[in-house]
Amino acid sequence: MIEENWGLLGHDWAVNMLRRHIQEDAVRHAYLFTGPPGVGRRSLALRFAQALNCPQPPAPGEACRACRTCTQIEAMQYPDLSILQAEHEGGTLKVEQIRAIQHGLSLKPYQGRYRVAIFLRFQEANPNAANALLKTLEEAPAHVVLVVMADNPDQLLPTIVSRCEGLRLRSLPVERVQTFIQSRGTDPDSARLLAHLSGGRPGYALRLKDDPHGLELRTRWLDELHGILSSNRIRRFAYAEKLTRDKEETRQVLELWGSYWRDVMLFSSGSSIDLTNIDRMQEIESLGKMIDLSRARRLVMDIENGIDRLDKNVNARLLLEVLLLDWPFVGSERK
Ligand SMILES: [Zn+2]
Repeated sequence: MIEENWGLLGHDWAVNMLRRHIQEDAVRHAYLFTGPPGVGRRSLALRFAQALNCPQPPAPGEACRACRTCTQIEAMQYPDLSILQAEHEGGTLKVEQIRAIQHGLSLKPYQGRYRVAIFLRFQEANPNAANALLKTLEEAPAHVVLVVMADNPDQLLPTIVSRCEGLRLRSLPVERVQTFIQSRGTDPDSARLLAHLSGGRPGYALRLKDDPHGLELRTRWLDELHGILSSNRIRRFAYAEKLTRDKEETRQVLELWGSYWRDVMLFSSGSSIDLTNIDRMQEIESLGKMIDLSRARRLVMDIENGIDRLDKNVNARLLLEVLLLDWPFVGSERK
């Protein structure tokens, strides 16, 4: 049986393109999959690896998804498949990791037709690792397929981007993600919330579903946002200090707050169809009535710039202090 769209949710055009490359024997030696985290980059790469290597494909460019090769690839335990990434999200992908697979790539595949190397979150590669990949891209033998991933091509060396066939994956309609999450046994209301929070990224929605701690954190951080709005300067400084003890966490808080202020902005602009934080509608509405559109827009932009600057290693605490002092005061008692 042939599964439609390689059994994936969305990205049909990307599947069609990769399938055609296999059918026409025109597989490129390097691809770059970009798109927001959780949109489906890794799933697409694994299905591609299956279609490249399945020994009994039901049709050209397909994979059976049942044989030993296909199941090993799905489990990321296949001898001709290497997956490289920084040891944790927000970490660094190091040159030693690339060197460790270079020799293997030069050898003929053990079992399959292609050796496939997948580089997750390559924006986390340090300069030496990026240069090592560049060398690998230039020297890769015909039996090698490299799949590089990043959120955005701008995060990588232009020389890497130009040597890869680029596929940019976009978020799916929220309703589609909702249906998908519901099919995994979640009630309609929760599925709707998860789909909205994910902004149309099925993998991200699934991760949220299986991570009650992440949802609790979200609630806490949104409550803290409101705590800040009703706080005086001194308490805002204290928040800035507390929130910047861990860089990755600071980033996550800022992304969440950015999505929240974006909702306020959308509400102020009179378009509330695409809100993300739909479980906080009442608060968002009352903030949207209090703050005019240009102010809301500036709060969103300040957070986006803040995230960029955080990635460039500016002093996080100082950044948060400036950001939080600029937020409006909303509350009854001003101390
Ligand atoms: Zn198979």
